[in-house]
Amino acid sequence: MEKKFFADAMLGTLARWMRTLGYDVLYEAHIDDTELLLKAAEEGRVVLTKDTLLMKRRLAKGRAVFIESEDLSGQLKQVAALFPMEKEKLLTRCLRCNALLERIDKQSVKEKVPPFVFSTQNEFSICPACERVYWGATHRHRMIEDLKKLLA
Ligand SMILES: [Zn+2]
Repeated sequence: MEKKFFADAMLGTLARWMRTLGYDVLYEAHIDDTELLLKAAEEGRVVLTKDTLLMKRRLAKGRAVFIESEDLSGQLKQVAALFPMEKEKLLTRCLRCNALLERIDKQSVKEKVPPFVFSTQNEFSICPACERVYWGATHRHRMIEDLKKLLA
């Protein structure tokens, strides 16, 4: 079964980059510990946290991972070592809301993307939740370069 995660309020940047890699990661900036732990338990999610008090909670037992590093690169490496990433999942999720992107026909994004993008790109996907449109080779290339540096 696929691993799912819930990142605590201090790990917003990590959550976003994990989504880039295709991990299923919930993140809410304003959620209290109890609520977070209950929701994670309910949905079978691994809790990622930088909070030592949260780690001590009964509900966190066997479910929470303490993220050691202060910097993003170290955090991503720790996650990737514990839960190996799957290459084919790269850039398959909305960075904003975690939903899986869906392929969308070029003609149907005409009104939703800048004219330059429309005329130079051919492959588009859309987030079914927030309707943000994703595209592009350049964007993809840059993200992969950034990830290589972070995981190097
Ligand atoms: Zn979205």
